[in-house]
This record gives sequence, structure tokens and C-alpha cells, in this order.
Amino acid sequence: MPRTYKITINGQETTGENGTLNVVNPATEEVFAYASQASGNQLEQAVQAAQKAFISWKETTLDQRKSHLKAIAIKLEEHQEELAKLITLEQGKPHNLAMMEVGGAIGWLQATIVLDLPVKVIEDSAAKRIELHRKPLGVVASITPWNWPVMIAAWHIFPALLAGNTVISKPSELTPVATLRMVELMAELLPKGVINSVCGSGEIGAAISQHPGINKIVFTGSTLTGQAIMRSAAGNLKRLTLELGGNDAGIVLPNADPEKIAPAIFQSAFLNMGQTCAALKRLYVHDSIHDALCGKLTDIANQQIVGDGMLPETSFGPVQNLKQLQIVKELVEDAVDNGATVLCGGEPLQQKGYFYPPTLVTNVDNGCRLVDEEQFGPVLPIISYSDINAVIKKANDSENGLGGSVWSSDLEQAAELAKKLETGTTWVNNHAEVLPHAPFGGAKMSGIGVEFGEEGLEEYTQIQVLSITK
Ligand code: NAD
Repeated sequence: MPRTYKITINGQETTGENGTLNVVNPATEEVFAYASQASGNQLEQAVQAAQKAFISWKETTLDQRKSHLKAIAIKLEEHQEELAKLITLEQGKPHNLAMMEVGGAIGWLQATIVLDLPVKVIEDSAAKRIELHRKPLGVVASITPWNWPVMIAAWHIFPALLAGNTVISKPSELTPVATLRMVELMAELLPKGVINSVCGSGEIGAAISQHPGINKIVFTGSTLTGQAIMRSAAGNLKRLTLELGGNDAGIVLPNADPEKIAPAIFQSAFLNMGQTCAALKRLYVHDSIHDALCGKLTDIANQQIVGDGMLPETSFGPVQNLKQLQIVKELVEDAVDNGATVLCGGEPLQQKGYFYPPTLVTNVDNGCRLVDEEQFGPVLPIISYSDINAVIKKANDSENGLGGSVWSSDLEQAAELAKKLETGTTWVNNHAEVLPHAPFGGAKMSGIGVEFGEEGLEEYTQIQVLSITK
């Protein structure tokens, strides 16, 4: 009988009053666990517990909170293997990538712990002293997607706690169990009510976004859901950080070396089977090296071993869910119907599990759905170009603006062009690399605000100016 993972309210593992969710392993299509679903009443209890805990948590010093977070880092290290296994079972990614996900979450925690929120002195004159203080906001709700369940929850929860807020975590209904377990482990080391979890579908997410007792929402997911949250958050002017969808373009200049860049491009596009917000999702390659680069990328794609992430030989796991698999399938079929060429892959594997091999598609351009829409899966459209100004225009011809990249052996020229991309992050000879000390966020419809680094931490605070007349 599969285990039922519970929610955590006020330090207690709690059975959900709204039945259970089936958690499906995408490699086998079988239910391997259940997750307790919270009722509206239990959301209320979680909010009240978090509000009560905030009264004393906000009075703790930054150093006291850092001690708690250090203890959590040690605990998560002890449970790395357990959490990684749950991630592979619910999300599908190969086990070594799941180990990296948990390791990355711990690394992020360690990088967050070194941050401070110093008082800034704005004026210190004979007449006045003006100081800028950073105060916690109150109850922060974290709503997360299904692609990097533990990593993204960690990105939300740790800085929120460090800044002195209390937290309610709501994982995706498709990948809830590793996050519910992580919250359980954290709750063992924190005062009651400082960290809580609720679980369920969009309905409970919508209840969170309307709740007047919640002061901020940090959300990672689709642009459509982000917009819905923004509308509902208006009631009590909730602070928002929204990390939304992307359709990142990469541009390869004629002086790039195909052999050298192909492994990094493949990794940037197919990391986590392409189910990564800032994955490279459209690749524009100068026509002088288009065929050479396509050849190198195809070689790498053909070397992948597609299979169950729990098998040691697997380098490429399944798509996380059937709906996403259908989107990928539909976009590739539409491209082929409109004259595209499939270099490798191109259809789901005829076996149990949501397997779709790494797929490269050429003879496409802007205007094709596979180029214009976010595929969020294991397929990369490759577009040949000849004019650099025209290609910058094509790269920017998207309502999204998460990341972008330029690949070249001339770093200066590449950096100048990279700055022309309308994105929150623009890389040269890299893509999809997020770091704990560099702010990350989207331009245009890809989001509001940033995570990571000092700027990310400050988003979990309210400025209070203390003005003293002497
Ligand atoms: P989604 O928006 O469908 O779901 C995300 C979360 O929102 C889930 O927990 C879901 O239950 C909840 N939710 C659904 N409806 C809600 C509502 N009305 N109110 C509040 N919460 C609600 O996204 P997804 O399918 O899980 O994730 C894929 C998308 O996320 C892609 O577009 C991807 O680009 C984006 N994403 C962005 C980033 C980033 O950092 N920018 C990172 C990962 C994923």
C-alpha cells in the first residue's frame, strides 16, 4: 500500500480533510504515493498558526534565524537520498539529477545564510538621522510548479524565513511529496507554525491568493496562473514575486565553434528534459555553421539513454505528465505539417511511461507554433539566419522575457548583442545558469521581481524609514 504524505500545520503532521491525491510515477504511470489534500478550514488553521508564530519569529535576531537554517541544512543533507528518490519517483528526472536538485537546494540555503539585511543610514547630520530598516512582511505563501519541486520550494522558503517571515508552502498537485517531506523535516527544527504546508490543486492556490491573512505570495509557474494570482492578491495588496513562463532564445554567431558549444547548448536546452523555466527554447544559428552545429547536437541527442530515472544507466527521463507530453507531441506534429525537418526523436516512445526522446527540429521560423510557444519539454527548434539585426528582432518578438543568450568567440561583440535582448538575464556562451548570488527574474510577461542575492532577499521585506529629528 503506497504511503500517504501528510501536510504540516503548526508543527504537526496532519491528515488532510479533503481526501488524498494520487501521485503518479511518470516512468511507470503507476500511483506510488498519496498526498493529503487540505480543506479550506485547514488553510485557515495554517494561516492562523503562521500568524501566531510570526509574533515571536519576527523578534528573533538574524543570527538566531541563521542558526535555525544551518541546522536545517544539516538535516536536509542527512535526508538527501530520501528526498532525491521521492523527486525521481514523482517528477521523473534521473536519480543523479535529483541528487543534484537536493544538493542545490542545500547549497542555496548555505548561500542565503551568509546574506544580511543591514540598516542603511540615509542621513546623519547635526539636525537629523534617517535610517532605512528592512522589516519582515508577515505570512508568506509559496506556490510551486512540478519541474524542480524541492529546489524551487527552497528558493522561496529559505529567504522568506531568514528575513523573519513565517511560511505556508503549497507544492504542485503533480509533485507534492518531496516538498511535503522537506517541510516535515524543517518543522522538526523550527518553532511551531513558522513553516506549514497545505496540498491540493489550483483551488487551494486560489484560496491562498485571496486570503487576507497572507501578506505575500512567491509564485513560480505559468504566466496565466501568475495573472490570476495577481488579480486575487489585490484585496489586501499582497506583495508578489512572480517567476513565470519563458521562451528563451539563444543566438549563435558565425564565429562560434560548433564542436565547443554543442555540449553546453544541448545541456541548456534539455536540462531536466527541457522542463526548466529558463531552458534554451529557440536556437537561432548563423547559416554558415547551421549544419555543422545541427550535426553535433544530433550526435549528443542520439547518445542519450531514455528511461526510468531510477535505473543507473538512464541519462534522460520521462516528461512529468501526460498533458505536457501531449503539448510537446502536438507542437512537433504542427511543425512537421508545416514543412519542418525532424533531425532526431520526433515522437513518443511506444511503451509505458511518458517518454519522449530528445528532439531537434529544423526548417522552422518565427510564426511556427513550436518557435512561438513555450514547449516546456524535450524538443528544440533550430532556426537558420543570415542577418544579425533581423535575428535580434526575432528573438525579441515574444511576450516572454525570462532569459536569452549569445554564443560567440568574440566576447565583446557577444556582450553588446546580448544586452539588446529584452530579458531578465542575458548570458554569453551559457544559458539557464542560475546562481544563488545573482538576482534572477523575468522581463515582460515572464514575471515581476527577482529571487536570489541581496535583491532577492529584500523582496521578503518591507522598508521602514526611521527619521529622527535631533
Ligand atoms: P501552473 O501555473 O499550472 O501551476 C503552478 C502552481 O500554481 C501549482 O502549484 C498549481 O496548483 C498552482 N495553481 C494553479 N492554479 C492556481 C490559481 N488559480 N491560483 C493559485 N495557484 C494556482 O504551472 P506548472 O504547469 O506547474 O509549471 C509550468 C510553468 O511554470 C511553465 O510555464 C514554466 O515556464 C513556468 N516556470 C517558471 C519558472 C521561473 O522561474 N520563471 C520556473 C519553473 C516553471
